[in-house]
Amino acid sequence: MVKDLFPSVSVRWKLMASFIIVFLVPVCLLRFGVPFWLTLFIGILLTAFFSWYAGSRILGTIDRLLNIAGKQSKSKTANRSDGDELQTLINTFDGIYNELEQKYSNPSKPTPIDLDNTSVEQTLLMPDPSRRISFNATLATGQPAMGDVVIMFDHEQLLNDHQIHITEDDAKELFEQVRTLTLEQLKQLSEYSKLTEDEKGIIEFQELLLHDPALLEGLNVALDEGIELIEAIQETFQGLKKRLQDSQNQYIAARAADCEDLEKRLTTSIISLANPELDDFYDRVHEKIIFCQQILPSEVVMLHRAGVRGIISMKGTASSHAQILMKCFGIPSLSCIENFYYRGMDGVKVLLDTRAHKLIINPKSVDQQILSRSITQFFSDIILEPIHLPNGEAIEVLATINNIELDATRALGMGADGVGLFRSEMTYIGKAELPNENELYAEYFHLTNTFQGKPVTMRMLDLGGDKLAGFQTDDLEENPSMGNRSMRLLLTRKDIFRTQLRAMLRAANDHTCILFPMISGWDELIKIHAFIDKQKEELIDEGYEINPNIQYGLMIEVPSLVEKIEDFVKDYSVFNIGSNDLTQYTLAADRNNRSVSDYYKYSHPSIISMISKVSKVYSQAGKRASMCGEMAYNLELLPLLIGLGIRSFSVSWDHIAELKSAISNINIEVCQKLTVEALNCRTQSEVEQVLGNYNPWPEGY
Ligand code: PEP
Ligand code: MG
Repeated sequence: MVKDLFPSVSVRWKLMASFIIVFLVPVCLLRFGVPFWLTLFIGILLTAFFSWYAGSRILGTIDRLLNIAGKQSKSKTANRSDGDELQTLINTFDGIYNELEQKYSNPSKPTPIDLDNTSVEQTLLMPDPSRRISFNATLATGQPAMGDVVIMFDHEQLLNDHQIHITEDDAKELFEQVRTLTLEQLKQLSEYSKLTEDEKGIIEFQELLLHDPALLEGLNVALDEGIELIEAIQETFQGLKKRLQDSQNQYIAARAADCEDLEKRLTTSIISLANPELDDFYDRVHEKIIFCQQILPSEVVMLHRAGVRGIISMKGTASSHAQILMKCFGIPSLSCIENFYYRGMDGVKVLLDTRAHKLIINPKSVDQQILSRSITQFFSDIILEPIHLPNGEAIEVLATINNIELDATRALGMGADGVGLFRSEMTYIGKAELPNENELYAEYFHLTNTFQGKPVTMRMLDLGGDKLAGFQTDDLEENPSMGNRSMRLLLTRKDIFRTQLRAMLRAANDHTCILFPMISGWDELIKIHAFIDKQKEELIDEGYEINPNIQYGLMIEVPSLVEKIEDFVKDYSVFNIGSNDLTQYTLAADRNNRSVSDYYKYSHPSIISMISKVSKVYSQAGKRASMCGEMAYNLELLPLLIGLGIRSFSVSWDHIAELKSAISNINIEVCQKLTVEALNCRTQSEVEQVLGNYNPWPEGY
């Protein structure tokens, strides 16, 4: 193939230059007295050269395009040798276009495209359902699961595909039918024993809406005006949704999602009633894995009742009601999968590795060990006693508790050596009312009592950022993660500080530690301790007995604390490295912003170096820093954490058994060796490569 002589010059300029050369050279030659016949000959030679060059480049380009197309499609290169290359090219691209059109218009029969030479990142939009491929999900609930996919109807598409035109009296009659049916379904849902107060609240709110005279009146007026039923429902609910969303009260604003849920539920039911063949969707989902764009709370409950094995939703947020429900029911689920085109996946086998937040399409038998491993760990490999490294060093595996009622006994049953982190804010998030001291005392006492004789670290309210209570609605901050959050908030809201502190002090025993989140230095600590001393005195004056052995601890989350870490060792007994926030603040990468997730890496050399510093300072002082946050249960990073000297971990109940087993079998010399190498790395990928080069576990583990 002829190479381009001037690759960086535009084709237009090249053509212009050729014309000028072909014209100017003969003119100059004649001007300098070269005979006419010689000038003509040179002119013809130049024209022939440029024509040949241009033609070869065009043919070469066609050939390259045909080669590229040949890798992407099966049908179209057959006629390559037929006559005109340009026509072959047109036929080829026609073929590709038809294949794609067929694939998208007939999603249940996908045509695999040969993507063998393409990296995972490049294929995200259209995974080949015949090959093993995995995707990362941001959110996960439940245990790993495997099954065949059923694609859930898309609400918008359902409305588009099945347009119905029911108006006036027919519409009123049909709406009444659907309203009664929905009220019945809501009643059935509310009888679910596993529903929390929050979920019951959603159902009650939807029931109220269905009885609301103003809403029903609005709908009737719209129908009387001749508006079609679905449109009338949408209009009526849009108005209400807008009013809710505009509310200054965050609790009320959050009800807009429940309102939308109800609207979709009503319109879906209307379409199902009008098209009875659609109604059997829930009959088809038993033991299946559901794929959908976004899941509604009511759909989670319906799917749970129908016995689904798992749910994959492309969108979702950790605090959404649907997510909370999936967690509450223990449904294996993965949410927030970017750039994943799932149409065409019907019937494909997938594995939900909920622990690693991975969706594996067409899992191999080796992948399926994920399922058996978790079952073994959960039912037979639970280690109730404290564990040791093979060299005899003691290790603490503590529980991170989010919800005392749900997690405390489960964690104890899984072998937790105590509570490393109780996130006390869960009682406040999204609630309009603040809890009172006695309610909090009962909750905290339940925790300390469940873990009698074991260490229990209770963290003071870490509200702010993405964790907002009902009262934090009026003055929403621009950059809340770095705003009036955690202890800073409590120092400005002494009423809330006082209530929680008094409840904690009253519930504390010999093994209790009160932990302060997001501390940046001594200035706030001095104020905090002055306030604590005052509250203790008040409680004692009121006749309460306050345990003299209460300990205090710090969350190590702000880099300024690491910088001066030596200054805090002597005064505090518990130090929790909050890997989530320490990473966020050190690397200036919002932990909730997916567009900077490449910058948010626990394996960043600066994070490793900080952990190394903290761990060294504490072990020299004969104390321990405990690792908590997501990094604490990351088995890929575990050898590094052990090598860095971390001997205490706080993880949620479902990671305790796995972590205990992994640590009991780890080879400490290998951990130390890889840590020396990792500490010398300049980039996070070098660190990851070092980790990949070593296996500190025995063969077959
Ligand atoms: C952390 O920051 O690592 C941590 C455990 O705190 P939270 O995730 O609750 O902010
Ligand atoms: Mg934190």
